[in-house]
Order: sequence, then structure tokens, then C-alpha cells
Amino acid sequence: MKYFFHIFGCQMNEADAEVLAGFLVNMGYSEATTEAEADIILLITCCVREHAESRVYGKLGELARLKQEKPALIIGISGCMPQQDDVAKSLRAKFPYLDLIFGTHNLPDFPRLLEEVQAGGSQVLAVLDEAGEVREDLPRLRQDGLKAWVTIMYGCNNYCTYCIVPYVRGRERSRSLDAIVAEVRALAEHGCREVTLLGQNVNSYGRDLAPLVRVDFADLLTAIGKVPGVARVRFMTSHPRDFSDKLIAAAANTPAVCEHFHLPVQSGSNAVLARMNRGYTREAYLALVQRLRSRVPHAAITTDIIVGFPGETEQDFADTLALVREVGFDSVFAFAYSARSGTPAADYAEHLQKPEKSMRLKQLIETANAIALERNQKLANQVVEVLVEGPSKTNPDRLTGRTRTNKLVHINNEPDLVGKLLDVRITKVQTFSLLGERVGVGR
Ligand code: SAM
Ligand code: SF4
Repeated sequence: MKYFFHIFGCQMNEADAEVLAGFLVNMGYSEATTEAEADIILLITCCVREHAESRVYGKLGELARLKQEKPALIIGISGCMPQQDDVAKSLRAKFPYLDLIFGTHNLPDFPRLLEEVQAGGSQVLAVLDEAGEVREDLPRLRQDGLKAWVTIMYGCNNYCTYCIVPYVRGRERSRSLDAIVAEVRALAEHGCREVTLLGQNVNSYGRDLAPLVRVDFADLLTAIGKVPGVARVRFMTSHPRDFSDKLIAAAANTPAVCEHFHLPVQSGSNAVLARMNRGYTREAYLALVQRLRSRVPHAAITTDIIVGFPGETEQDFADTLALVREVGFDSVFAFAYSARSGTPAADYAEHLQKPEKSMRLKQLIETANAIALERNQKLANQVVEVLVEGPSKTNPDRLTGRTRTNKLVHINNEPDLVGKLLDVRITKVQTFSLLGERVGVGR
């Protein structure tokens, strides 16, 4: 029996997919290499933007044919889309060939739900309104032995006015520090060299554990930095409002913590930031970047930006472009605002037309790419540490890896380098990747 996943959206869905794969392997399944050989296909969905949802509907359309050819095939849908009650109901009505529809809070029930489907009968739909307790007993199948995502908390309490995440992922729930450290220790013992600590806002880690336990993200980072064998620690995402000086110090003083900070700014206009409910100003953000750079001088800073938020004026957008230039981001994930039903911003006045949003998006991407190239040019002829991950997907003569600042590097393919921390001299720079040559044999 074989399974095949279609994973949409962010790393949280990747992490959920690892749990689902863990369950399936325990039930005797193995992974299929193609859809055609699968006995069960699961769509793990995202609803952060309309585009992500459209891709899911496109895939559902395609799967109808496969189900016709192979009626015993089980098709299930999970993730953020069906966690919305109205969407779950409409999926049930519009796609009768879906065998299983379940929400993010029902993940621990997956084996039971699948058994219900296998027992036959009608479509199984399970969407819990509330997330349960944090579960430490769920299986997890990780593909990559070298790098691992480690979820440290679930949910989000921020309610940025454009964002659907708090509605589909629930309130913040932190895992215990001991459980996280134990997981990282076990990963390191099995050869993992890099962990990325995951949460919608890792900076508020531990708040929900008080007053019983008093621990924050800086404490967690320091504890993880002491686990032997973990050479690199990353984390995402950090809310700029909650990036304390204690956390900056912990990042600067913990050698394993990489010099890369993903700090979504969303907009460079104070008026837009206030309407987004982000809880900081442009000035506060710039001051934070300065404080970070004064403690971690060669840090790469990356960000997320939304253009075309309702009511965004030409001047607001110009403020965003100016902020992008002022910070000098290493990379910008740029998005056109997408109205999400049920979020406050969806009901705001003055929605921008699609062509206007597309034009601003294009302008932002051009500006950001030019700056990214400039930032990369500073690395020409420098020697940087690269964690070699494996052969390049596009060119088997090359190996790829990442710098501590999270930049993609290609080197010549030679034996026995995968998994090593290698010194590499950068010989050519591009906007999205670097080319280099090995210096030494690695460690
Ligand atoms: N928790 C993270 C944070 O606070 O930045 C990321 C959450 S979200 C999955 C990733 C990014 O999607 C956000 O940073 C934001 O830029 C973008 N995003 C969220 N809602 C959006 C919307 N309605 N339209 C366009 N982009 C959106
Ligand atoms: Fe969404 Fe804001 Fe929470 Fe990030 S912090 S997940 S953008 S509500």
C-alpha cells in the first residue's frame, strides 16, 4: 500500500505532512514516487492567499479523472482549507469523490478517520473547532537526515488584519522546553546538523506556559545551542514587535545560531502597519535592524511584504520601497494582498484593483532583486561556510548547500562532501545563488 502527498503552503504543512507520513508508515504504507501508483493521495492545503486555494481546486479537478480510473483510490484533503467550516462543507458538496476531509486540529485522529474510510460507506468529514492539548506522542517521518524542522509552538494570537492563520491554526500553544531539547538531542544523535525552530511567531514562545513555567524564546535558543552535534540553529518566523534585547543577546552569544533573521515587515508605511495591526512602526523596525546588526554585524536579513493592502496609497507604497532600500534586505518574499473572507481587512474600504497590485508587486520585486544582487556581490572572493546538502536538482555535476546566512551555493560535485561543513570560496554571484570552489576537506 502506498501514499502520495501534495503539500501546499508553509513549513507548518511540511511538518504536518511528516506526522501524517509517520502514521501511514506505522499502518504499513510506504511512499509512492508517482500519483499513479498511490493507494491514498492526501492534499495538505493552504488558504493564506487565493492563489494557494486555486491550485488546490485545480489539483482536485485533475484527481477526479484518476478516481474514475481507479475507484479504490482514497483521496483525502487536510490542512488549513478544510479547517474553515464553510470551506469544508463546500468541499464535501462539490467534490463527492473526496473520501476524507479533515481540519488541522484533527491531525491526531488521522488513523481512526482513515479506518472509517476503509470500512466503507460515506464521505468522512471531521473538523474540530478547537485545538486540543499539545501532543508529544505523534509519530513523525522525516525525509532529510541532515536538516530538520522542529515545531516549537502551534497557532498564533496576533490577528494581523489580513491574515487567516489564527482562525485555522488556533491560539498559541507552546511545547515544553524539555520536549523540544529532547527532540533536538535525538535528531543530533542521528546525524542531523541543522535545525530550524518553527512557529508563526517564535518570539512569543512560552507565554502561554506562564505562570506555571517561566521560559521564553531566548531561554530555548540558549538551551538548544548547548546540544552537542547541532552545528546550526535557525528559527522562523519572528514578529518584529516581540524581538527583545534578551533575544538579540541570546542569538549573538549562541555560536550555533545562524546569522540570518527572517523579520517580516509587511509594509514601510506607518498608516498601513497600523491598519494591519502589526504593533510596530517603521521607525521601530529600522531601530531593531540596527540593534541586530550592531550585535551580529554580518547578519542576513530577509522579510515578507504585502503590496496593495486596502487603502495603500502611492505614498505608502513609496515608503515601502524606501524602507527596502534603507534596510538592504538579502531577500524579500513579496505578495499581492489577497482578501481572505472572515478577516477584518477583507471588509475594509478601498480595495485596490488587480492591475495596480500587480504593478506594485513587479516594482517591489525588481527593487528587491537589485538589492539582493548588491548584497551578494559583497561575498565575491570571500570564504564562507557551506553545509553541503546534496546534488543540485538541475545539474548533477554540482552539489548545493547553504551558507550560515541561508544563501544557496553551488560547487563541483565530488565524493564524500554531502553532510559536511565546507569552506567555500565564492567565485561568481547571482541574485538567487552563488557559485564557489572548495577550500579544504570540510568537517
Ligand atoms: N507568521 C508569519 C508572520 O508573521 O510573518 C507568517 C505567516 S504567513 C503564512 C506568511 C506570509 O504570508 C506573511 O508574512 C504575509 O506576508 C503573507 N500573507 C498573509 N496573509 C496574506 C494575505 N491575505 N494576502 C497576501 N499575503 C498574505
Ligand atoms: Fe498571520 Fe500575523 Fe500571526 Fe503571522 S503573526 S501568522 S501574519 S496573524
